[in-house]
Amino acid sequence: MSRKIILLITASVFGLIALSFIQAYLIKNTYYLRKEAFIDKANDQVTKIGSYGTPIDSIFDAISDTFIKDLDKYNVKKVSKEELLDRLRHISDSLNPRFIKEYEKEINFKEIGYNLKYHRQLKDLVILDSLRTDTIFNNNSGKALKLVGHSFDSNPELLIGNSTWETSRTFEERVQGRIQKIKYHLIFETSNYINIDDWKKIILNEMRSLLLFSFCIFIFVIALFYYSIKNLITQKKISDIKTDFINNITHELKTPLSTLSLATKILKKEDNNASVIENTINTIERQNLRLQKLIDQVLNNSLGYQDLELHKLTVKSVPLISEIVNDFKIAHEETILLDLDVSEENNTLNLDKFYITTAIVNILENAVKYGATEIKVSSFVKNNYWNLEINDNGIGISKKNQKLIFNKFFRAENKDVHNVKGLGLGLYYTHQILKAHNGSISVNSEKGKGTRFTIVLPINKL
Ligand code: ADP
Repeated sequence: MSRKIILLITASVFGLIALSFIQAYLIKNTYYLRKEAFIDKANDQVTKIGSYGTPIDSIFDAISDTFIKDLDKYNVKKVSKEELLDRLRHISDSLNPRFIKEYEKEINFKEIGYNLKYHRQLKDLVILDSLRTDTIFNNNSGKALKLVGHSFDSNPELLIGNSTWETSRTFEERVQGRIQKIKYHLIFETSNYINIDDWKKIILNEMRSLLLFSFCIFIFVIALFYYSIKNLITQKKISDIKTDFINNITHELKTPLSTLSLATKILKKEDNNASVIENTINTIERQNLRLQKLIDQVLNNSLGYQDLELHKLTVKSVPLISEIVNDFKIAHEETILLDLDVSEENNTLNLDKFYITTAIVNILENAVKYGATEIKVSSFVKNNYWNLEINDNGIGISKKNQKLIFNKFFRAENKDVHNVKGLGLGLYYTHQILKAHNGSISVNSEKGKGTRFTIVLPINKL
């Protein structure tokens, strides 16, 4: 893969990761905003319940009236701090069942669609007078003092806000026989908590369509990215293959053309004798034939299996293969040892003899081209199909290239054999021919040891 493509993929992956992070950040923010809005809404419902003049308001009044009297006693040291808090706890506990009853009546009436529990607890209790600041209670100490509402200690609770009751109080008290005016300032701060069963689920449910939409967009972008990169790589491969093909065909055309030009120069000479002229004409004829073959190869061998016009005949397998192999043997007798094993009983095949011969000869010629000194051809029947195996001891094909050799224009880099000509069309064409016959071709090879091609064709039962 070229550097440019690798760079492009890396940049796109980083872009995609950055986008995913932004998306996740936005979703997280939306979640928090929704949570706040949800709490605000619940808060609103709860505060309205205790508004002025309602039965709940009268419960709060009852608590504060009793409490303020106890606080007066605390101020003149008639009750201790612990007793004061115990009395507050006691009055709150005794009024709490009434509070819960009234609260549930109101909340059911509102039909808010979820189970909204509420409680109020003491946060700070401070009294101030001209001499001192007395902190009677502070929830930072770790102790909680629930005033009214439900208990929901085990569930996660949400703090919806604090409310402060501040008042200045003056009362008269007989101290050592004399009436004295006692003044103090009260700060009574409470915290309001709510608890909703599955509130996270409710918020996520509200965000369902957003989450689903984001997820779909994300998948869509990933798919688009994958498809674009795949397309880019394929285009690059095709462009490389085309460049290779142009180089190969230029190389193939160069030799006959330069031979032709040389031959013309020879013929132009006036002192040529008859045998030189005849030899040169023969060369011109051969090179002309080679050029013609090359052009035919490009035109015909790049056809797909749907374009092949088959003229099928019923033929016997043994004579067919014997004829092809023997013809080939005659042409290559000096360079190749060719062994044919047709121990099968004669099978009937329905095929186009011309095309099948071309396919088999392509494989045999490749064996010679790619370094074989020995070829073994054998045929047999397996699972009602006719099999033809062509084994050679040539340079072999790497595992990676075995997957590619049937592709159009594919040529492996063969450094082990010099000056091997080809256009990368032979095996593609062979494959197309077999496909057109409802057959197949496969390869099995080990680099440096040799190659076995197996052709499979259906047997004609009639
Ligand atoms: P060409 O021979 O024109 O290159 P082919 O389509 O016939 O094209 O073959 C494709 C590639 O398969 C060849 O370039 C070669 O690398 C490899 N190949 C084919 N047959 C053999 C073989 N018998 N031994 C080793 N390599 C082979």
